[in-house]
Parts: sequence; structure tokens; C-alpha cells
Amino acid sequence: MECSNDPKAVGCNCSYEPCSRKGRCCECLHYHRRNGELPACFFHESYERTYDRSLENFQNMVKKMGMRR
Ligand code: SF4
Repeated sequence: MECSNDPKAVGCNCSYEPCSRKGRCCECLHYHRRNGELPACFFHESYERTYDRSLENFQNMVKKMGMRR
């Protein structure tokens, strides 16, 4: 798989503008995985905007909304 390095990456919904990993999908995924988290693209925008990328927040979202984003 080729790693995207495009600041306007399709599918990137991250609203945290100052992040240097924005559009660098491999770096983004590895960063959050190291921290036991998921990247923004796993979250519905109402959850993404909290910047809480924890598995617990993801589970709460799925319980309330299902898997739709
Ligand atoms: S999901 Fe995290 S690492 Fe990825 S661009 Fe957003 S703030 Fe940065």
C-alpha cells in the first residue's frame, strides 16, 4: 500500500488544523496506534471535533450511532 502524503487527502476529516500529520495517513495511523487510539477518519464529525481519539470514545460513538460516519 502506498502511503498518502497529500494535505487534501480524500477521506481525511480531521479538523485539528495545526497537526503536521494531516494528510500523511501512515504517520497519522501509526501515531494514534502507538497511543492506543484511532485516527479522526474513524469518527463521525460530532465525535471527531472533541479530539478524543480513544477507543472508549469510538465505542461510545458506535453504541449511539452504529458504524455510520
Ligand atoms: S487524526 Fe490525529 S494525527 Fe491524524 S491528522 Fe488528525 S490530529 Fe493529526
